[in-house]
Amino acid sequence: MINLISDTVTHPTPAMREAMMNAHVGDDVFKADPTVNALQEKAAQMFGKEAALYCPSGTMCNQIAISVHTRPMDEIICEKLSHVYQSENGGYAFNSWAGIKLIDGERGKITADQVEAAINPPYDWLPHSRMVVLENSCNIGGGTVYHLEEMKAVADVCKKRDLRLHLDGARLFNALTQTGDSPQEVGALFDSISICLSKGLGAPVGSLLIGNEEFIAQARRVRKARGGGMRQAGILAAAGVYALDNHIERLADDHRRARQIGEVLAELPFVENIRPIETNIMFFDIKKPMTAQDFLDKLKAHDILAVSFGPQTVRFVTHLDFTEEMLGKTLEVLEKMK
Ligand SMILES: *Cc1c(COP(=O)(O)O)cnc(C)c1O
Repeated sequence: MINLISDTVTHPTPAMREAMMNAHVGDDVFKADPTVNALQEKAAQMFGKEAALYCPSGTMCNQIAISVHTRPMDEIICEKLSHVYQSENGGYAFNSWAGIKLIDGERGKITADQVEAAINPPYDWLPHSRMVVLENSCNIGGGTVYHLEEMKAVADVCKKRDLRLHLDGARLFNALTQTGDSPQEVGALFDSISICLSKGLGAPVGSLLIGNEEFIAQARRVRKARGGGMRQAGILAAAGVYALDNHIERLADDHRRARQIGEVLAELPFVENIRPIETNIMFFDIKKPMTAQDFLDKLKAHDILAVSFGPQTVRFVTHLDFTEEMLGKTLEVLEKMK
């Protein structure tokens, strides 16, 4: 089977499993797991921040960040396609009693001017604008990336207006691979950053929340309150250390493979509106009367899996387990549909 459903479908490689098997472990609730500690220190250092926290999921990292940065009756500003709005069950309200103001951006991205215009004046009856969330790369936006200057402009507005700035960096390393910006440069702009180890980086489980000491100390308490304090978690964290050491550079291969698929998609008579392919995510539409499901069924007959987003839209995602050989087969199958 060739699986283009998501970059979350990867399995740990033999070398990653070896690293997990050999991990030194301890009780992380007592901060005594050497591998978790090493992973957290490594991540904090990479981004030039003071501290980091290993969490079970990216959703938990985002939700903890919202809880630490906001109070009830505060409002978060983000783009309408953001994961924190679309895919976390309204956790900002459920967990933090916060409201949300959605910006109608461009393929998931928002500008500094849009942020400034979305900040509420300080009336008693208006939610207090407290936090901005950027997503980089933006998943449903089509794997779109922010350049450093765009993020810097938003960060400047947040500083000036006293808002906290969080980066949902589930696929941040995909974005940095594309732009060439460094993690330190990004780290300097944000109050908090979440990173997924279990997407393109290929770990089976885990995400990191990164920030200053005070923020991470609070985040640690919130993680425990939500039942996310784990014991000998080093066995999982070892996969994260391995992923950061070995699976960042190869993301460029995923991006190249996505572009190669995009070239063939562009020649298919029943495909339209292919969004610009910036990273490892491809969104495109199927021309009526054909539907996304019709196309997915055809692919499935050739052992290729993908997903639809609505009746006409299809998403493909390349990743660690999508090999050069699978690319060859996928291109061959698509070529035959010309
Ligand atoms: C996957 C993802 C997350 C977090 O997902 P988990 O499945 O909870 O780890 C957060 N933001 C974005 C943009 C994502 O794609």
